[in-house]
Amino acid sequence: MSTKVQLTDGTIEVSALGTTLIHEHVLVGMPGWNLDLKAPKFVRSEAMARAVDRIQELHGYGCHSMIDPCPMDIGRDAEFIAEVAQRSGINIVCATGVYNETEGMPYTFRTMPDEDILELYVKEITEGIGDTGVKAGVIKIATHGAPTEYERKMISVATQASLITGVPIISHTKIASHGHDQIDIVESRDGYADSMVVGHSGDRDDHEYQASLARRGAFVGLDRFGLDFLLPDEARMRNLMQLVEAGLRSHVVISQDYLVCLLGRFGNQLEHIAPNWAITHIFKSVIPRLKEMGLTDDDLETILVSNPRRLFANAAAHKNGGSHACGHSTCGS
Ligand SMILES: [Zn+2]
Repeated sequence: MSTKVQLTDGTIEVSALGTTLIHEHVLVGMPGWNLDLKAPKFVRSEAMARAVDRIQELHGYGCHSMIDPCPMDIGRDAEFIAEVAQRSGINIVCATGVYNETEGMPYTFRTMPDEDILELYVKEITEGIGDTGVKAGVIKIATHGAPTEYERKMISVATQASLITGVPIISHTKIASHGHDQIDIVESRDGYADSMVVGHSGDRDDHEYQASLARRGAFVGLDRFGLDFLLPDEARMRNLMQLVEAGLRSHVVISQDYLVCLLGRFGNQLEHIAPNWAITHIFKSVIPRLKEMGLTDDDLETILVSNPRRLFANAAAHKNGGSHACGHSTCGS
């Protein structure tokens, strides 16, 4: 069955995505960043030049596609992302959905009826974000510990929007915690673990946690390579190998959660906080090391190409109540 993926500038066949980074950010600004007197001013042309420069480096590593799951309340700028995609020649999928209650901007959505939020999510996916004409191709959900009432509400709405539109869900968790709660909420709304990435699941050295998410059919986001201050790459790589050795490679997706442009006072300090972190870090430093550890080209193809493709294909197969392509809700193939 043909599955289309919504990019910022039109659709492509899912088979054309190729090597795909599952969780990267072009531009992020936490709520209120611009009120901080110590925050450098946002100069769009400078940020654009930096973003295009960095992101087009991916071509040199045979990577032409990335997902930017920036939710609408932490600085998502659909026109900016679309322009970076167009200028860099990299396929970018952008998101609808919101961040967690602690770090996002929950007031408006807390008071809005579910059906109005659902209408907004579906509109952003099918018609476009605001009046930009740029359509979202994934839905973001987020928790900051055990899901709050607000977060449960937003995950429920996201699940309904996923089932209506056939696009996958990408999650944020706080240091690899409560991924099972996220899956529980999705499944309680008749959604499917096989259409979601439980994000930041590699932030703790916890193979059992990661394997248990995979065994429920979810994609496990080992998506913060380079953020050594949270967990060193050595542990992240070891966890990846453990999942492969456990026969769970078809549930692993990798990325860096790199912030190409971070607005606010910490924006120009990222190089000091995480010196190895970069949009190309996986290709430059992580993959060569994984190969030394025994990862095969076939494993890599599965993780970087087949798994992102299957994420989109699974979500599309569940559109409007369709069953999984192979009939299993937790297919591992
Ligand atoms: Zn992120």
